[in-house]
Amino acid sequence: MANRTSQDIRCLNRLEVMRRFYSDSEAKTRQELAAATGLSFATVANLTAELLDAGVLVVAGRLESRGGRPRALLTLNAERGALVGVDVAETSVRTEIFDLALRELHTDERPLPLGGVDPDDVVKEIEAGVASVLAATGTPQHKVLGAGVSVPGLVEREGGVSIYSPFWSWYEVPMRSMLAERIDMPLHLDNPLKASTLAEMWFGAGRDVDNLVVLTLRAGVGAGFALDGTLYRGTTNSAGEWGHSCLEVNGRPCRCGNRGCVEAYVGTHGIVETLRAIAPADPLLHSPDDATVLQALALRAAESEATAEKVIARTGRYLAVAVGSLVNVFNPQVIVLGNQVVEHFGDRLLQATRSAVADHALAQPLRAVELRRSALSHNAVTRGAAAFALEGFFKDRELFGPVSRVRTARSRSK
Ligand SMILES: [Zn+2]
Repeated sequence: MANRTSQDIRCLNRLEVMRRFYSDSEAKTRQELAAATGLSFATVANLTAELLDAGVLVVAGRLESRGGRPRALLTLNAERGALVGVDVAETSVRTEIFDLALRELHTDERPLPLGGVDPDDVVKEIEAGVASVLAATGTPQHKVLGAGVSVPGLVEREGGVSIYSPFWSWYEVPMRSMLAERIDMPLHLDNPLKASTLAEMWFGAGRDVDNLVVLTLRAGVGAGFALDGTLYRGTTNSAGEWGHSCLEVNGRPCRCGNRGCVEAYVGTHGIVETLRAIAPADPLLHSPDDATVLQALALRAAESEATAEKVIARTGRYLAVAVGSLVNVFNPQVIVLGNQVVEHFGDRLLQATRSAVADHALAQPLRAVELRRSALSHNAVTRGAAAFALEGFFKDRELFGPVSRVRTARSRSK
């Protein structure tokens, strides 16, 4: 078993303190940070000294305290640097640049041709996207603290390799080293599931809890887990392929080759199949793609059309079965539902799921959990990808290592 070194613990504590600055935009005292994180005042004082030293935090003002010394109000130094997030999706490459406070500064979106796309072509589009957001914001390359890139499918994060991307049939593509030849900044590679989960943890509907499940419901379906405040990856970074666990023995065929998978019922294509089962002659079934069907169903449901209401109610019941087992296995505080399916079906789907989940979860863990809708719909993946770069920056041992601690100690003893 891997031992956590004191450096690792220090790094986890640093991330824990920094997460508080991203959960809201209020300035904070060291006392407040200690209370919020459960860390000792001395640890917080040490970590914030290091962060002030690195220019990440600044003193925004002082709070008079009765009888004692005034307390410094600390806040993020948004201008300290920029972060880039890239979402390589099936049909487009979206690149966004953020300041250190993760405020969005500029977006670039480039379409990808449908069907076969070469890794080289995607690398070129990413390079062009990054160049475009830097130029549009006048950001010099050296101000970029890092870029996170999300690619669909299974990713080996340490080596930066796209192990398998089903949509384009990519196998073992060394994406990060291909990018490193063209883009000179720290690069971090992962997939949309991990990116969305990290975004919900740092900035979204899960920012106030430590045990969190984030459901991504689009063409592909997956679950991301944060356990005790840390993103859970599994042994080979493939944890969360919940979409391919079984909902119904001998059920509908799934694109993974098995039958009855969760995705075959609550993914966009699964929902079209539910419509087919309920209303086989519905004209929507002739639509060019699944997204169009979902959009039309949402409009019909808003007018209380019976078939659309039935499709959403049944999708909620399917979802409740799969969510019920997550509640029993993980005992989370919050389950966030997000992405395309939720953007279209919204609170109706959440309501249908909530009312059916009691049939599939034990009463005690069910009482403890709250189902929430994602608050980050339009850019959870780019934001999460940028958060990988942010985490990489906060783990930088040269910036936050023993050297800077010595410097901090010296400057404080003056
Ligand atoms: Zn499957």
